[in-house]
Amino acid sequence: MPVIRTVCGDIAPDRLGFTYLHEHLIGGALKPGSDPDLTLDQPEAAAAELRVFAAAGGGALVEMSPVDYGRNPLALRRLSEATGVHIITVTGFIKGTSMEPFVADRSLNQIADRMIAEVLEGIDATGIRAGVIKAGSSKDSITPTEEKVLRAAARAHRETGAPISTHTEAGTMALEQIALLRSEGVPPERMLIGHLDRRLDWEYHLAVARTGAHFGYDQFGKTKYAPDATRVDFVARLVQAGFRDQLALSGDLARRSNFPAYGFPDAPGYAHLIQRVVPLLHQAGLSQADVDALFITTPARLLAFGD
Ligand SMILES: [Zn+2]
Repeated sequence: MPVIRTVCGDIAPDRLGFTYLHEHLIGGALKPGSDPDLTLDQPEAAAAELRVFAAAGGGALVEMSPVDYGRNPLALRRLSEATGVHIITVTGFIKGTSMEPFVADRSLNQIADRMIAEVLEGIDATGIRAGVIKAGSSKDSITPTEEKVLRAAARAHRETGAPISTHTEAGTMALEQIALLRSEGVPPERMLIGHLDRRLDWEYHLAVARTGAHFGYDQFGKTKYAPDATRVDFVARLVQAGFRDQLALSGDLARRSNFPAYGFPDAPGYAHLIQRVVPLLHQAGLSQADVDALFITTPARLLAFGD
C-alpha cells in the first residue's frame, strides 16, 4: 500500500486531510547577511500558526525547507506532535548559490545516494524520513550544479517513488525542468513545479498544464507579486479547461512578516488560504468537489509512494 511519509512516520493517504503543499515553519536563508525577516526561528509562533490552521480544518503541510535552507526535522516532529498537524519534510536542495556548499564537490550519484538515504532510512541520525524530493533552478537558467541536482532528484525518485517538488525562480524554466526530469524517466504526474504564479502568463501555464505535471500556485496572500483575485481567476480557468487535478495551491509563507504569530496581525498566516481564498474559489464557480480535489485528493495522490 502506498503511504505518505510524515515526520512522525508513515500514514495512509486518506488520513492526510486538507493540505498545503509548499510552506515553511522553521529555517531560513543560511547565507550571512541574509534578510533577517527570512529567518523562522520561533517554534512557539510556528505552533500557534499550525493551531490556527488545524482549527480552520487544516490537516497537513509540506515543509519545503531543505538542508540548504535550515531544515530542522526534530523541530518539525515536535511541532507535529504538539499540534496534530501532519508535517512532511524534504530531501534535496533549493537552488544556485544556496546549494553550492552542499553539492559542488559531490558527484551526481553521491547526491542521489544522500537523497535516497534520507527518504528510505532517515535524515542524519534522527530516524525521521523525508517524504518529498526538492530541486530547483535560477531565474531564466538551469546552472550546471542545478542540472546535476535535478538529475540526482530524478534518480532518487526512480529508486524511492517519492514525488519531486521544485523551486522555480520567478516562475521561469518550468518547461525546461519538466523536460529534464522526463529525460531521466520521471513521469510528469510525479512532479510538482513550484511558484508558477510568480509568472501569470496564460499561454505559458497552458503549455505547462499540457505536459501533465502538477504546478504550484503557491504564493497566495503575497499581494506584492499579484492580487489573489488574479490567481483565483487563473485557477477557475484551468479548472474549466480540465486541468483541475494538476493544480497545487499553497502560500509559501517564509517570512516572519507573513505570520500574525510573529507579531504581524494583518499578515496572511496559515488561516489565509483555508478561510479567505476558499470562499473566493467558490465565488469563482468552483464546486465543493473541486475544492476537495485541490486541497485533499491531489495532495494525497501526489505525496503517496511505495508499496
Ligand atoms: Zn518555499
